[in-house]
Amino acid sequence: MAADDAHLAQLITDVVRRAVTEADTVTRYRQPLVAFADADDARFARIRQLADPDHMMPQDLLPGARSVVSFFVPFRPEVVRANAVHSKVVAEEWVQAYVETNDLIGEITRCLIALLKKQGVDAAAEPATGNFDERTLTSRWSHKSAAVISGLGSFGLHQMVITDAGCAGRLGSLVTEARLPVSPAETRERCLYFYDGSCRQCVTRCPLEAISTEQTLDRRVCWERCSEVALRFTHLGTAEVCGKCAAGPCAFESPVTTLELRDQTPASRE
Ligand code: SF4
Ligand code: SF4
Repeated sequence: MAADDAHLAQLITDVVRRAVTEADTVTRYRQPLVAFADADDARFARIRQLADPDHMMPQDLLPGARSVVSFFVPFRPEVVRANAVHSKVVAEEWVQAYVETNDLIGEITRCLIALLKKQGVDAAAEPATGNFDERTLTSRWSHKSAAVISGLGSFGLHQMVITDAGCAGRLGSLVTEARLPVSPAETRERCLYFYDGSCRQCVTRCPLEAISTEQTLDRRVCWERCSEVALRFTHLGTAEVCGKCAAGPCAFESPVTTLELRDQTPASRE
């Protein structure tokens, strides 16, 4: 890896961290996570083959793209707790966090694109939300897939990405011509259901039974629910969101990692 690439990766990480720490938002955050993938990673092509033939490749976003930057902005626990108070009613705090964080991600990606431009390389991004086809219920660019490919996390039963800081937060990503150091390949399981079958909290927390253990999410049911929620919070902005399934043991951490660490403690081996 060239020293310049490592330097650029550090600059990107610093920009994301500073923007989140200094965010002028009501919503408060934990430390963001940043990771990098090779734009030529075969898994981008596989999404197109297996999931959606219209899914964009990094090079569709930016011809000459060499790297993908993925970042996760995790909410502070009080945002999740507010949304967990009622089993059906979505909390204003959660909706506000969704709207504010999408805006923040937009600011971060604009900053990063400008920073990279100054370093002589182009970058491009899709918005944090709004790039969603309501007819097919798919996005042409998936921030979630970019996060998994870059090693930031793994998919949970609820079809959200569980990072080492959990799933309660928002993801952003961008592609760039810069050849950034690729984050170590990560195949670690973070969902307890996939790990040992010991959790189904997202299934039971969903008020509409949109999640099943057959590893499917009824996207239509989920989307209709989120659209209904949006109608109640138009004063906050565009907020097709619900998040009841994101309040389980994977909200703030990888519960599998916590379990493994607990099993490795001397007391638990006695
Ligand atoms: S709530 Fe449990 S089963 Fe659902 S995604 Fe999180 S860890 Fe997996
Ligand atoms: S976002 Fe809401 S409706 Fe959609 S799967 Fe999660 S809990 Fe169910």
